[in-house]
Amino acid sequence: MSIKLKLVIIFLAITLIPALFGSIITFNNYKHSLEHSSISTIKIIADFTKDKITEYSSQHLENDIADMSHIYNIIQNMPELGDTGEVLIGKKSGNEIIFLNPLKYDAKAAFNRKVTIGSNTSRPIQEAAQGREGAGLSIDYRGEPVIAAWRYLPSLGWGIVVKIDRKEAFSDVEKLRRFIITVLAAILCLAILVALLVARSIASPLQKLAKGAEIIGSGNLDYRVGTNLRGEIGQLSRLFDKMTCNLKQASTLREVERQRLYSVLETLPVYVILLTPDYHVSFANKFFRDRFGEDHGKRCYEYLFNRNEPCDICETYKVLKTNKPLNWEWTGPDRRTYDIYDFPFIENDGSVHIMEMGIDITERKQAVEALKKVNETLEQRVAERTIQLRESAEDLIRAQAVANIGSWRLDVKNNTLSWSDQTYRIFGIPAATPLTYEIFLASVHEDDREYVNRSWQAAMRGERYDIEHRIRVGDSVKWVREQAQLEFDKDGVLSGGFGTVQDITGRKKIEDALKESEARVRLKLDSVLSPEGDIGSLELADVIDSRSLQLLMEDFYQLAKIPMAIIDLKGKALVGVGWQKICTKFHRVDPETCRYCVESDTKLTIGVKPGEFRLYKCKNNMWDVATPVIIGDKQLGNLFMGQFFFEDEKVDYELFRSQARRYGFDEKAYLAALDEVPRLSKETMKKGMEFLVKVSHIISNLSYSNIKLAKLFAERDALTISLKESEKRLRRTNENLEQFAYVASHDLQEPLRIMGNYSQLLEKRYKNKLDQDADVFIGYIVSSAKHMQKLITDLLTYSRIGKFDQDINKVDCNSILGKVMISLAPLIEDTKAIITHDHLPVSICNETTFVQLFQNLITNAIKFRREGEQPRIHIGAKMHNDEWLFSVRDNGIGIDDKYKDKIFMIFQRLHGRDKYPGTGIGLSICKKIVEGYGGRIWMESKVGEGSVFYFTIPVTMQKEAVR
Ligand code: ADP
Repeated sequence: MSIKLKLVIIFLAITLIPALFGSIITFNNYKHSLEHSSISTIKIIADFTKDKITEYSSQHLENDIADMSHIYNIIQNMPELGDTGEVLIGKKSGNEIIFLNPLKYDAKAAFNRKVTIGSNTSRPIQEAAQGREGAGLSIDYRGEPVIAAWRYLPSLGWGIVVKIDRKEAFSDVEKLRRFIITVLAAILCLAILVALLVARSIASPLQKLAKGAEIIGSGNLDYRVGTNLRGEIGQLSRLFDKMTCNLKQASTLREVERQRLYSVLETLPVYVILLTPDYHVSFANKFFRDRFGEDHGKRCYEYLFNRNEPCDICETYKVLKTNKPLNWEWTGPDRRTYDIYDFPFIENDGSVHIMEMGIDITERKQAVEALKKVNETLEQRVAERTIQLRESAEDLIRAQAVANIGSWRLDVKNNTLSWSDQTYRIFGIPAATPLTYEIFLASVHEDDREYVNRSWQAAMRGERYDIEHRIRVGDSVKWVREQAQLEFDKDGVLSGGFGTVQDITGRKKIEDALKESEARVRLKLDSVLSPEGDIGSLELADVIDSRSLQLLMEDFYQLAKIPMAIIDLKGKALVGVGWQKICTKFHRVDPETCRYCVESDTKLTIGVKPGEFRLYKCKNNMWDVATPVIIGDKQLGNLFMGQFFFEDEKVDYELFRSQARRYGFDEKAYLAALDEVPRLSKETMKKGMEFLVKVSHIISNLSYSNIKLAKLFAERDALTISLKESEKRLRRTNENLEQFAYVASHDLQEPLRIMGNYSQLLEKRYKNKLDQDADVFIGYIVSSAKHMQKLITDLLTYSRIGKFDQDINKVDCNSILGKVMISLAPLIEDTKAIITHDHLPVSICNETTFVQLFQNLITNAIKFRREGEQPRIHIGAKMHNDEWLFSVRDNGIGIDDKYKDKIFMIFQRLHGRDKYPGTGIGLSICKKIVEGYGGRIWMESKVGEGSVFYFTIPVTMQKEAVR
């Protein structure tokens, strides 16, 4: 409702309410007074009429009907009753009232019109006719409202009613009411007019203000009310304009700030948005727009996720309920993860927004996840490794305990030496005792201390530390093996090290025992096995395989249950099965009875022949049977069956009881052990012994054969050794010889050359100038010098062979042969020799040696030709058993088979130099070359027919040479 309307209503209320109330009160008062006076008048008329009729009736009216007209006159002449007033007379008849006079509005009513008592019309006549009197407003016979007064005429039993229509009676009141209404209407119009004017003057500036507020509220801060009014409203308008101006300035400032904020937000590497409560994005920075595009007026869930309703997982809008900042994680439509911060945000217009900031943490999260995974894996691996390490550590401790190897670690920097538990145990030092090198050294056996210290000092200089020495542990001595790996810094200074200590006492003991027994056995065997030695010094233990025999006898015992033993001549049991409690717990325990046992085992068996056995009771009164073990011709021990009783024999318990008493045995246990002694039948004993005799025989034969064999082996070994040594000596001699030949021939070459040259000069200058003998002598000198030179050259060649390892190549033998033919061309031409050859292989060799080889053989083939026979030579080659087999065949004089080896020896010749010149070195050079390649050379020949020289070059050897 506008202010104007309110003002109008207020004014009208103020003006009209008193007027209205005044009029109503006045009107009511007037109305009541009028009513009252009308009723009074009617009452008077009624009383008057009553009196009149009563008077007339008392004088005249007795059943005279004509006289009713007089009464009618009386009642009709009532000018006071106005136009509508009339008097009614009625009489009760039964339950009806009969009208007795004609009525104004019903002329025929007299005695005709009736009204039933109780009906709603004609109320006054009903009252009067029933004897009651009164006055007031009522309803007449027409049903019209009337002011009436009713009276009862007891003398006649009639009732009379005087009435006038209410309308007529109140016609003045109506006039007055109309007048009042007219006045009130006039006042109302006037009041409205005044109110409108007043309201307009007050409301107009206020409306202007309100409109201004509305315009400003819509955002137009340039609007001004601009009134010149005085008074409060004018003041208010000016204040309003000022406030608007301030607001505009503040708003402009805020807008600038906001723009600045937005431009900052634009550049942020995170997204920032403003969300309205109805899910619109009112602001989005560049980061957000770049990632998710423009909203085009759509709601966030519509354009981000293409949904019709907000996302279920969205937490953002909780901020509006809680009005508190919120941090949560969001996966955007780009499938990236954002760390979201939501803040309630009041916009300039006071509306509540949500400012949301999203930091892309995808990479960070992935990194964290990866890190987490890595951490998990790492933790798992650490856990696994820890378990493994713990297990390893436990295993190490166990391993050290099992292997009896301890370890130690030295840290020079921190000056600590730590030992493992096992090391402490080995040294017998309480675990965790602080250690120093000196403490360790103090444990070392005094005789080894110097050695250990020296070794340690050497190790610190970088030498290997692997020593065995003794240590003292309490009263006992132990052997330990110590090994260490020392660590040095870059300057070579010791920084630490790790080492092990192994308790080798057991091994040492065994080694010592072994050494001792080995030495003993070797000494004996040496003496026995020497060709001239005899087996006299051997003992049974030295020649039988006790272990195998023990196993054999155990098997036999399982079957036969016969106690047996092999005992040497000193009474030492080397093999034994079925040992009886009576022996092990009693007889062999007590010194005296034990002596009896040994005596039985040794003395009582003397003189039994091989293949026989002796049955006797031992000195402890039990049966033994023995057969000798004879090796060679010598008894070395006995095979026993014992201790037993025969099954049909009665054991003399009293005897054994007395024995128990004598030697202090527990009698009961002794007799119980006695009961366990086997009972054999004579047959079993005999069979057992026959078996033992055979065993003894086998042992004897085997051992003897073994010794003989061993002797032979020893002899063969001795021969082999001496052969090898001779070979070595020979090789050394050869080498020395070769060396000598090389040196000698080399050194001799020069003086020989001079000698040759000068003797030739001598021959040239003095031939035929001296006497004849001188010419012959000079001739000898010249030819000897030449021969000597050739000899020296050949010797030098020979001694040089074997030094060609370096110059090994793939060489085509065909081209080698070609070269040889060229060098031998004059000889070939002279002798008209025909030389043919197979296709020769490519060989891996030293070319010079192959040239020498072919040259020597072909030269010989031509040189040793038959007289008058054209030399025909063929060089062949074929593969045979992984070897190249070369052959040089000639049709020369041939060689007697008996010289087939001799000719390959150095300086060996079969002919005089005058017939066939030569030095006798050619074939030995060939032999040396071929053997140098791992091959062989030989010759096949028939005198007078020709010879074939064969040599082989192994292919494998050549392959190795290539490698
Ligand atoms: P040289 O040829 O200097 O005598 P060799 O060592 O070459 O020395 O030969 C040794 C000897 O073997 C010869 O003196 C000769 O008696 C005999 N001989 C070598 N080759 C043949 C051959 N092809 N036919 C017959 N005899 C030969």
